[in-house]
Amino acid sequence: ATPTALMAGTGKAAENGVLFRDGEAIQTMKDLDVVVLDKTGTITEGNHSVTDVVPVGRGASPDGGALVEPQQDADGLSDRERRVIRLAASAERGSEHPIGQAIIDYANEQGIDLSEPREFESIPGKGISATIDGERVFVGNTTFLEEAGIPLALESELDALEGQGKTTVLVGVDDEVIGLVATADTIKDDSTQAIQDLHDRGLETWMITGDNERTARAIAEQVNIDPDRVMAGVLPEDKIEKVRELQAEGHNVAMVGDGINDAPALKQANIGIAIGTGTDIAIQSSDVSLVRGSLGALVDAFTLSERIFTKIK
Ligand code: ADP
Ligand code: MG
Repeated sequence: ATPTALMAGTGKAAENGVLFRDGEAIQTMKDLDVVVLDKTGTITEGNHSVTDVVPVGRGASPDGGALVEPQQDADGLSDRERRVIRLAASAERGSEHPIGQAIIDYANEQGIDLSEPREFESIPGKGISATIDGERVFVGNTTFLEEAGIPLALESELDALEGQGKTTVLVGVDDEVIGLVATADTIKDDSTQAIQDLHDRGLETWMITGDNERTARAIAEQVNIDPDRVMAGVLPEDKIEKVRELQAEGHNVAMVGDGINDAPALKQANIGIAIGTGTDIAIQSSDVSLVRGSLGALVDAFTLSERIFTKIK
């Protein structure tokens, strides 16, 4: 391999929006057999928006059939629903998570006044809590609520919404669940095609996410990732462990991600690939960065490295 050919190849790739850190990165690409894709922000756009608000104790009709919600206001939100959103959004003011942002945006759209959160606490990959007008509010996944000692509720509703690929959080106040909020995130236009192209190249694709198993599997199904290759409920600090496990099984692993919490896994992977306008830390931790924020660019990276490598061989 001549350094000059590599240099030329690197430059050509850069023109196509694929930035290889160095020549070695180009060569290592050809040995990869597993591609681990972060779900949020990599396969999906990463922009959540609220789709459902379900308060606890929403009156069921006497025959147990359709749900009847009294006191609907002009926007169709009941008092109970407004309370769930007001408390959740107020607490999320201390958070920078896209789920929190989605709930705050929704509260604003609904013209709901928010309170200032006090004693805000955040547990990465689980949820947040804060004191709102004297009440302790918890927003997060089932593990988070359970760890706070709050008995779970709305489990069949969670099941149904997660089965649709929606991300859910429970809202607890003091020692009880008062409702749930579901958000959805759109799958990027070319994710399904790109994953198909990776499979056609003989690569195995895996999905990794902090989101729950049911939601992750529903999204995996939509983009044709084998449900047995979904790693869900993975805490930010454990993503690196999952990459190590695949490597220990003899795989050469590419990790593709965009977030701060993906950085250690990007470093650990044989090749770390930062996608799009990912966080600076993700880009710094990667061997390849894709200017275009789509998985189509990932396929381009494989094609380009192959072309360059064939030329210099
Ligand atoms: P992802 O891998 O999708 O980025 P995270 O690790 O950030 O997921 O979060 C995993 C899960 O933890 C979320 O799906 C949510 O249930 C819960 N969670 C994390 N942060 C928050 C928050 N600020 N508010 C509510 N729930 C949260
Ligand atoms: Mg993330």
